[in-house]
Amino acid sequence: MSPSSILAGLGLALLATAASGADLLIENVTIVSPERSQPVPNQFVLIRNERIAQITPRPITAAGVQRVDGKGQFLTPGLTDSHVHVSDAVGLPPGAATPELKALADAFHVQQPRSYLYFGVTQVIDLANLPAGLAAFDAQPRHPDLFHCGATMPLDGYPSVFVDKPQRYALMPDYIYEPANAAKHPLPAGVDAAAHTPEAIVDRIAVSGARCVKVFIENGFGDQSDWPVLSRQSLQRLRAAATRRGLLLIAHANALDMQRIALDANVDVIAHGLWNWGPASNKPGVPAEIAAHLNRIHKSGTGYQPTLRVLAGTADLFRADTLEDPTYKKVVPAALLDWYGTEPGQWFRKVMKQNSGNLPDPKIASLELQVGERGMRAVRYLHGLGHPLLLGSDTPSAPTYGNQPGYDTYREMRLLAAAGLPPLDVFRAATINNVRQFRLDKDYGAVATGKIANLLLLDANPLESVHAWSRIDKIILRGRVLERESLAAR
Ligand SMILES: [Zn+2]
Repeated sequence: MSPSSILAGLGLALLATAASGADLLIENVTIVSPERSQPVPNQFVLIRNERIAQITPRPITAAGVQRVDGKGQFLTPGLTDSHVHVSDAVGLPPGAATPELKALADAFHVQQPRSYLYFGVTQVIDLANLPAGLAAFDAQPRHPDLFHCGATMPLDGYPSVFVDKPQRYALMPDYIYEPANAAKHPLPAGVDAAAHTPEAIVDRIAVSGARCVKVFIENGFGDQSDWPVLSRQSLQRLRAAATRRGLLLIAHANALDMQRIALDANVDVIAHGLWNWGPASNKPGVPAEIAAHLNRIHKSGTGYQPTLRVLAGTADLFRADTLEDPTYKKVVPAALLDWYGTEPGQWFRKVMKQNSGNLPDPKIASLELQVGERGMRAVRYLHGLGHPLLLGSDTPSAPTYGNQPGYDTYREMRLLAAAGLPPLDVFRAATINNVRQFRLDKDYGAVATGKIANLLLLDANPLESVHAWSRIDKIILRGRVLERESLAAR
C-alpha cells in the first residue's frame, strides 16, 4: 500500500500535496545534506526535469512517477571530486599504440565514468586535459557531470618536460614563453611569441569552456630543481588575466618553496597537499616554518586539496596484494586487471624501482608513505585551524594502477578521516566546500529544491562513519535511478 492510499483511507487526503508531470519520487527517506547539522528523517523528495522540485515531510500524490521507497536509507548529494584526469587510461604506458593496448585503453574509458558513479561521484573536475579526452568521457552513455580547467606551464616546464620535442608542443600547446629563459628555452621555430603571453593563453583557455586555469609550479622532484618556473611577473599577469576572464587560478605545487610562490601569486586553489617540506622534512610534528605557511593558507582563504592518494597510490604499486583487492573487480575491466599482473603491466613499477636505485619493494612503499604522512600532518593542522578542505583524488596522478577512478575518491575520503577529520567534515569536503570553491553551488552540493538531482541513497549514515560511502545502494543521476551493481565492471 502506498503512503498516499494510507492517507486517503484515514481521510487525510487533503494533507497530501498534489503534483503532476513528475519524474521521480523518493519516499520516507532521511535527508543528510552538508548545510544541515542533523539528518532530517521521513522526507518526500520530488524530482522533475532533472532537478529537485519539492522536499516535504508530507506524502506527495503524483501520477505517473517512478517511486523509490527510501525507508531506512539516507539521501545525500552526489560527491564532487575536484581533481581528476579523465583522458589518462590508468596504468597503461603513454601513447599505448599496439592493438592490444588500445583495446585495454578503450575498455578503461568505457568503465571509467561508471566507476566514478559506482562510488557516488556525480561531478568531476578535470584539472588539466585536452578536448579529445573530455569529449570521450562525455560520449559515454552514463557519466558524472564533467567540468574542466585549461593547463599552462612555462615553455619546457613540468609536466611537458616528460614529452620529447616536438610532440611536447603539440600535446601541451598552452605554454607561456619567458623571454628571460630564452637562452636555455628558446621559442620553437616559427612560433609567434605574442601567442604565448599569459594574456593570450588565458584567452585561449577561456574560450575552451574551462572554468579555471591550472598553472604548474614545479622545479623538480626530490633533489632535482632544474625545470623552469614562471617568473613572479608572469604569474601576476596570469592572475590578472584569469580574474578578467572570470576564471579561477589553480596551482600545482606540493613543496614548501613552490607553494610559497603560489600564495605570492594569489592563486585560488593549491591542487596538492604540502608534503615536500625541504629542510624541515625530518623534524617531528608540524615545524614552525610549515605551520607559518599553513597559517598563511588559512588567512588568505586559499583552497587546499590534500590529494593524499598521490603517495598512497604509488606505494600500492609496491604492495604484493594490491591486485588482489576485491574492489578492483568492481572498478577495473577484467582484461585490464589481468594485464596489470603481467610482465608488461608492471612497466611503471620497474621505472620507479630503477629510479630508486633498486631498493626492495617494501622499502619503496614505506618511503612513499613517509612523504604522505607529512601530508597527513599538514591536513590535520589545517583542519585544526578550521580551514575548509577540498576533496580531490588526483586520479591518476601517475601511471600507477594504484590509482583507480571512484575508488580513489573513496580512499581519499578515508585518508582525510585517518588524518583526523570527523565524518561531517569529510562529507563537506566532498560536497559543499568543493562546489563553493569551484562556483558550482547554484546547481550542486546539497539536497535542496532547485538543485540538479544528482543524489545518492545510502544504507548507512555518512555522518556516523566515512565507511558509509562504500554502502551506496542507488545513484540518482539527473533524476535517473541507477542500481549501484549495474555500474560495476564485468
Ligand atoms: Zn593532477
